[in-house]
Amino acid sequence: MDKMSKFSHITKVHPCYNEKLHDKIGRVHLPVAPKCNIACRFCKRSISEDCCEHRPGVSHGVLKPEDVEDYLKEIIKKVPNLKVVGIAGPGDSLFNKETFETFEIINDKFPDLIKCLSTNGLLLPKYAKKLADLDVKTVTVTVNAIDPKILKDIVDWVYYDKKVYRGEEGAKILIENQIKGIKKAYDEGLIIKINTVLIPEINLEHVVEIAKTLKDYAYIQNIIPLIPMYKMKNLRRPTCMEMNTVKDKCEEYIKQFRACQQCRADAVGLLSEAKILKEKGLNLDIYDLKHF
Ligand code: SF4
Ligand code: SF4
Ligand code: SF4
Repeated sequence: MDKMSKFSHITKVHPCYNEKLHDKIGRVHLPVAPKCNIACRFCKRSISEDCCEHRPGVSHGVLKPEDVEDYLKEIIKKVPNLKVVGIAGPGDSLFNKETFETFEIINDKFPDLIKCLSTNGLLLPKYAKKLADLDVKTVTVTVNAIDPKILKDIVDWVYYDKKVYRGEEGAKILIENQIKGIKKAYDEGLIIKINTVLIPEINLEHVVEIAKTLKDYAYIQNIIPLIPMYKMKNLRRPTCMEMNTVKDKCEEYIKQFRACQQCRADAVGLLSEAKILKEKGLNLDIYDLKHF
């Protein structure tokens, strides 16, 4: 059986794996995972290692697992055709125990929703099996380079096994774990999407190597443009032509998702999520609802 048909029971209903459904099927993100274990230079939520356990400024908007049931009940009333529930941060989903608690709640109370997760992949080797056991179906891993010399310019440091690794050393650990974790998740039957942020000055020529390396394991790749901010605020966004050229090159190896506008530009699903969060007294910036 080929990759497409093996996963078709999920990909035919998941809006992030099927462009044609992108505007038709509802999905919700539960912002239960505030902490992050790496520091991407484009992420305004990057934090210094001495506050690794906290992400000041986002805690007020974080949903607690005990509030998930009520929140989802509200969402189901308001979002038509809701089929997918995702945990996508605002930090790294796998670095927060609340992610696993939340999936257990969903299994218990909302067993019909498809469970989805987005991660930087650092802890995926450790948790791939646990995710499969929790009946998570789809995992998005953000892979921005598979060469430490390139990734070191995108990620400042990586916090792993209670230690901070900087520069190339940290980048190497992240890449190794991403590849190992993706293979493991694939073997566990999870459907894998690769998100890649295209940063013209850094990974324009390199992104195709990511597609080549992961072609046997990824179902789809979603290349998204850099939004210049934080330590990358002086870098430029890719042009549409650069985006399309890179997607065309990668398409030779992995099917490309071309409908993604990034959630911040996706008013429908996310605005209603933000509105409901606000009604519940959680003043979460729409930015925080989506992991890159
Ligand atoms: Fe889509 Fe990613 Fe959210 Fe899953 S976590 S529903 S793939 S945006
Ligand atoms: Fe962490 Fe995601 Fe921000 Fe990178 S983009 S620092 S993985 S929250
Ligand atoms: Fe759709 Fe937003 Fe996911 Fe892009 S990031 S695929 S716009 S839900």
